[in-house]
Amino acid sequence: MPDYDLDRVRADFPILSGGEVIYLDNAATSLSPRQVVDALADFYLNVRANVHRGLHRLSARSTEMYSEARREVADFIGADPGELVFVRNSTEALNMVARGMGLRRGDAVVVSVAEHHSNLLPWMRLRDEVGVELRVIGVSPEGEYDLDALAEAARGAKVISVAWVSNVLGSVAPVEEIGRIAAEEGAAFVLDGAQGVPHLPTDVRRLGVDFLAFSAHKMLGPTGIGGLYIRSEAMEELAPLNLGGGMISDVTLDGYVPAPPPERFEAGTPPVAQAVGFAAAVRYLRSLGMEAISSWERELAARAVEGLSSIPGVRVYGPPPGRERSGVVSFNVDGVDPHDVAAILDEVAGIAVRSGHHCALPLVRGVLGVQGTVRASFYLYNTEEEVDRLVEVVGEVAGGA
Ligand code: PMP
Repeated sequence: MPDYDLDRVRADFPILSGGEVIYLDNAATSLSPRQVVDALADFYLNVRANVHRGLHRLSARSTEMYSEARREVADFIGADPGELVFVRNSTEALNMVARGMGLRRGDAVVVSVAEHHSNLLPWMRLRDEVGVELRVIGVSPEGEYDLDALAEAARGAKVISVAWVSNVLGSVAPVEEIGRIAAEEGAAFVLDGAQGVPHLPTDVRRLGVDFLAFSAHKMLGPTGIGGLYIRSEAMEELAPLNLGGGMISDVTLDGYVPAPPPERFEAGTPPVAQAVGFAAAVRYLRSLGMEAISSWERELAARAVEGLSSIPGVRVYGPPPGRERSGVVSFNVDGVDPHDVAAILDEVAGIAVRSGHHCALPLVRGVLGVQGTVRASFYLYNTEEEVDRLVEVVGEVAGGA
């Protein structure tokens, strides 16, 4: 059992009441507790005004709530509020970094083959349009890095950009070692934290990152908002993705003076309601404790790996038992298309999982050698009974295959 009251937690998530759905698609997006939806509703019903330039009381309240949300989310990752930019999602954050760094022809960027497309395509575009050299390092089918190969690839590189946690394998990258290699080379260290920040205690200083991307919707928060941590020293080097209202301190017809960060990176009306909901989500996570959440997920994942691995004809991917794994478990049933497995799980037992390439085709096709996998992914509200039901139904699918 986790270090928090699981029944009380589950009661906060209306989708889980009634027992119709076993929600194991948390790596795609998480559920939201009432507290997050209440915070959104309160903002929309009682405040709603735009931030910044308004002098009236509702605008002042909205501005205050937006700033407070920034403080809370920044604090959750161990950053100063001025180092946190609100973006739409991890994808936008990674595009902002790739686009904004001013990389030139011949500059080298290191990524791994295990990246989500959102941490691959923005760099591939720089390769194709600017002539940046993209160095792609391998990982093992278990998601392990060869740190010597990484150090070799990083020689003279300007950027190392990798995922903290693989959304396919659940493997956890050796972030501190990668950070050390980046620092030795003077390369910027970009961490795709989409699957890390929601599940692991996060401290940007300890991680040693220059940039950290994450999405609220994967950590109980609303859709449409995410965070980009930018180390203060890296702020001045980054060009904003969008220009317009809210990001300047002066404009003439000859040019403009950008506002100080983080506003510089947030042109246009910001996602105020979503930020308020995001802050409610991190308050909720904090109330349970990230250590408690991550150790519960590890227990659930270990139980799933053990159960699924014991079924003849089921192949489980990712770190072997005993090695660090977050709450993501990908598998396949011999002779059954992953989409069919997912459809049967939903139909027979209301179990929600994801199937396919998980936006990581070079990993799934190139390293695992399959067209897709079935992925069960756990979060703080899942139970051992839900894992056991998954194993049971997969056993039936495998038995009938
Ligand atoms: N990186 C990883 C590792 C992910 O798992 C995801 C989401 N599946 C993303 C980036 C992109 O996140 P978003 O869709 O919220 O932009």
